Amino acid sequence: MADKIKVALNGYGTIGKRVADAVMRQDDMTLVGIAKTKPDYEAYVAAKKGYAIYAVDPAKAESKFKAAGLSIAGSNEEMIKKADIIVDCAPEGIGEENKKLYEKLNKPAIFQGGEEHEVAGTSFNAAANYDQAIGKQFVRVVSCNTTGLCRLLYALDKAYGIKKVRATMMRRGGDPNDIKRGPINAIVPDPIHLPSHHGPDVNTVLPHIKIDTVAVKLPTTLMHMHYVNMNLNKTPSREDVIATLKQYPRIWLIPPWLNIKSTADVIEFGRELGRPRNDMMENVIWEESVSVDKEGELNLFQAIHQESDVIPENIDCIRAMTGIEKDGAKSMEKTNKTLGLGSFNPWKLSL
Ligand code: NAD
Repeated sequence: MADKIKVALNGYGTIGKRVADAVMRQDDMTLVGIAKTKPDYEAYVAAKKGYAIYAVDPAKAESKFKAAGLSIAGSNEEMIKKADIIVDCAPEGIGEENKKLYEKLNKPAIFQGGEEHEVAGTSFNAAANYDQAIGKQFVRVVSCNTTGLCRLLYALDKAYGIKKVRATMMRRGGDPNDIKRGPINAIVPDPIHLPSHHGPDVNTVLPHIKIDTVAVKLPTTLMHMHYVNMNLNKTPSREDVIATLKQYPRIWLIPPWLNIKSTADVIEFGRELGRPRNDMMENVIWEESVSVDKEGELNLFQAIHQESDVIPENIDCIRAMTGIEKDGAKSMEKTNKTLGLGSFNPWKLSL
């Protein structure tokens, strides 16, 4: 096998720690290290896992890490120099700042969905546009909501052609550890102006899809819920649609007998399956919700685990940008296998 791709994680929070663990599961990648701003429980676990920790701002952070008994391998700039590619998982807007460092050191980098499309110039979803990332210096993996929409719309557009999509995103207020976000007791139109930015964001990956989106924030931390309505060019039966979606391992069709009635049940299912951090990286579609009328108008509900659905996409993006795998289908197959993702057949799941 060719040399392993050396990956560095700049930013080690909700997304960064999951990408780091996913990199560790790939036989064609190696983790150079992770960059932290300060010592905390996430740095402690990273150290216990044997990940090299680099400091974002060593002048400020070194004494704090020392006091915590955590050793630092150097600055994040030193980490970046050692890497073939950087996955930037810093908070929204900081990626754009960090880009200056990647440009200075002439290193390729992946940004996350909190950054604007223009920061990278290419936005990515593995099924939809793997080829467009091949050989690029900067690529953005689109946000959790946009990833969920792109997976679904790509599959249905390919099979039946999409005339127009209308999607409502019922968004989680914050991540489970995020005490500063809300609402605690309200439903917040976010944004109030319509349509929301999610439609244009889908168009950065699937430019030809006509789509209007709206979004509200809710007092929940577990998952997003999407209500998706679309008009198709063809008029498939609901059984056809279900069979089409089942061909995509990153889309799960939940049968009624599992008695999964809410996002709480989905996450509990992840716990029962023994998924790391109860992550549900697949779009979770309620089979019962899939309906198609005689004019080809389709409706469904899908739940999106905001903390984890972008993780397999980051792994594929690394392969595309570095050119270690030019075939998107092969990369996705490898990523799915190593992360334990697969077409949803409850009897084939291993516990
Ligand atoms: P987070 O706040 O959980 O983690 C960010 C980490 O980066 C923190 O540990 C922070 O200390 C660190 N950091 C701060 N400044 C830094 C710097 N200059 N250099 C390197 N690291 C720095 O954030 P997150 O939720 O993991 O989000 C990261 C990115 O992923 C954002 O663009 C976000 O929009 C996107 N995203 C988040 C979610 C989600 O639901 N959490 C889903 C998809 C995409």
